Amino acid sequence: PSQPRERLRVAIQKSGRLGDPARELLASCGLTWRESRDRLFLYGESLPVDVLLVRDDDIPALIADGVCDLGIVGRNVLVEHGLERAATGRDGRLTEWRRLGWGACRLDVAIPDDQEWTGPEQLAGLRIATSYPRTLARWLEEQGVDAQPVLLNGSVEIAPRLGQADVVADLVSSGGTLRANQLEPVTTILESEAVVAGPDHALDDGRQEIADLLLRRLDGAVRLKEARLLMLRTGRSELGAVLALMPAGHEPTVMQVDGREEVSVQALVHGSVSWSRLEELKRAGAHNLMVLPVEGMLA
Ligand code: ATP
Ligand code: MG
Repeated sequence: PSQPRERLRVAIQKSGRLGDPARELLASCGLTWRESRDRLFLYGESLPVDVLLVRDDDIPALIADGVCDLGIVGRNVLVEHGLERAATGRDGRLTEWRRLGWGACRLDVAIPDDQEWTGPEQLAGLRIATSYPRTLARWLEEQGVDAQPVLLNGSVEIAPRLGQADVVADLVSSGGTLRANQLEPVTTILESEAVVAGPDHALDDGRQEIADLLLRRLDGAVRLKEARLLMLRTGRSELGAVLALMPAGHEPTVMQVDGREEVSVQALVHGSVSWSRLEELKRAGAHNLMVLPVEGMLA
């Protein structure tokens, strides 16, 4: 239905919890842009990729309707949209193209903290305030419990105090907001994180190739954030013991040091290297140990 487009269009949250990390992630993929006057659009300069800045709730529909190709959104929003779309018989199935590992939260049931939790059966007949009625309804069905979702689009946590509901099903990361409202999270309906969402089929008009390029860079950027280069020297006779202690990562490169009975070892490792690990390596015979951040990487 949509016109052919030669540029990839990615929807991200305009502001809120996922907006800045999503922009930073795209920037770390080498994307530079010019912002539109109304601040709704980022015109990509370095790549044929444009970014639409929207409310997170709108992201799945923008993709399903073909207005955007990909989006960075919480799994909670994606799942709710998918269930809603299926329930109302519309097509446009979306899937997770990548998990991003940040924006973690849970959709939890929380009950007044002066009540005892005995299990999901206890929710039978209760009113449950939530912004995720479809996800909640699916879970209730799985549990075989008949309760009544009450849809609220904000301030779910005050619904019990206002008498609008008995309990809530709300997003939680630390639980602090719920506890401040005398609610205790008791069980988890959905584990969420930020994801790259897209259609369940390849893109048209050459946009799949642009998406592949972007996702390759994105995978690299995510790995790069964790990568360190570990460098050290050791005697030939200690090499075996030193290699056995190398942190998890790529296969080390061992180089002859000119004119010496010594080798230089370097390895790309995942994550930071602890002091205790460096000390162990030193005890095993390594010296001149160095851990360096990695600025760029292309396998
Ligand atoms: P918008 O104005 O775009 O609709 P919003 O208020 O609906 O914003 P935010 O509060 O910015 O949304 O949350 C965006 C996403 O961040 C959530 O959908 C969820 O995936 C994730 N998230 C992570 N931690 C939390 C948390 N503690 N509470 C709510 N959302 C969280
Ligand atoms: Mg929202």
